[in-house]
Amino acid sequence: MGLHARSPGAAAYMGGGTDLMAALKAGAYVEDVIHLGSVPDWTSIVESEEAISIGPGVTHQVFADSRPVRAVYPTLCDAWSKVANNRIRIKGTVAGNLMARNQSYDFPMVAIAIGAQLEFLESELALRRVTADRSAELPQRALLTRITLPRARCLAVAVQLQWKPIAAFALSFRREHVGIVGCLAVRCGFDAVAFSRIRLEHCLFDDLRRETSVDITERLCASLPSPSSDWRASAEYRRHLLKVLVRREIERIRVAGPNHEG
Ligand SMILES: Cc1cc2nc3c(=O)[nH]c(=O)nc-3n(C[C@H](O)[C@H](O)[C@H](O)COP(=O)(O)OP(=O)(O)OC[C@H]3O[C@@H](n4cnc5c(N)ncnc54)[C@H](O)[C@@H]3O)c2cc1C
Repeated sequence: MGLHARSPGAAAYMGGGTDLMAALKAGAYVEDVIHLGSVPDWTSIVESEEAISIGPGVTHQVFADSRPVRAVYPTLCDAWSKVANNRIRIKGTVAGNLMARNQSYDFPMVAIAIGAQLEFLESELALRRVTADRSAELPQRALLTRITLPRARCLAVAVQLQWKPIAAFALSFRREHVGIVGCLAVRCGFDAVAFSRIRLEHCLFDDLRRETSVDITERLCASLPSPSSDWRASAEYRRHLLKVLVRREIERIRVAGPNHEG
């Protein structure tokens, strides 16, 4: 942070460097490159009763292979083990994916759906935390120091990345003090990640009194903005496909049952 502030010109943090190097090769100019390898606990994954805290140097592969992450988010780890390609997964970091502010990247959507918290330094002394749905508010020079994933109360998560670039989403169900809350975060067809939250009337897994997967899907999708139309898909097709895929994921979640950690 201090190095960044003292840089006479444009400075850039470097995690795995996969995006930064591509930008430099394409002609971007920076005065100083600040490698983040000396950030404390750079590559650590720390579990507590309530949360799993991810260091900014954790690569996609280490994240996908992490035992504590898999215990709570098995479907996320399955999806993440196929993100990008091997070379990117062993070098690129989850933090870099978030901080690249690239609309075609997937972790911002996942972080919003699961209710992740981002801890960052906005000056040498000021440490702040924001929920992932407010990451756009992070100042340009902010240094992301930890990503915290909630551990307790997570009932189920689904991550759908196979229909990119027509549809991609992350869906979670969590036990909150108001009841069970579903959160759907969607990208593809939106300028920024679009998301919606609903409170379920009944337990997701209650066989006798429960909302149908169609009803839950309709409610989750109702408050999303309209996606765009482009040469890949019309807005109508995107909306339709999203509903079909979300409904299937809810049915899959019901068959699989609640996450034991929840
Ligand atoms: C071929 C290919 C396929 C890909 N496929 C996918 C995909 O399917 N899904 C997907 O989501 N992504 C995909 N990606 C993107 C990839 O995940 C990112 O390139 C990678 O995560 C970036 O991480 P990094 O550590 O290398 O970032 P870096 O290049 O080090 O940094 C990226 C940006 O974030 C900033 N930054 C990095 N760390 C911090 C920090 N701690 N605090 C503040 N700022 C920071 C840097 O200054 C820079 O601006 C793909 C990339 C490639 C090249």
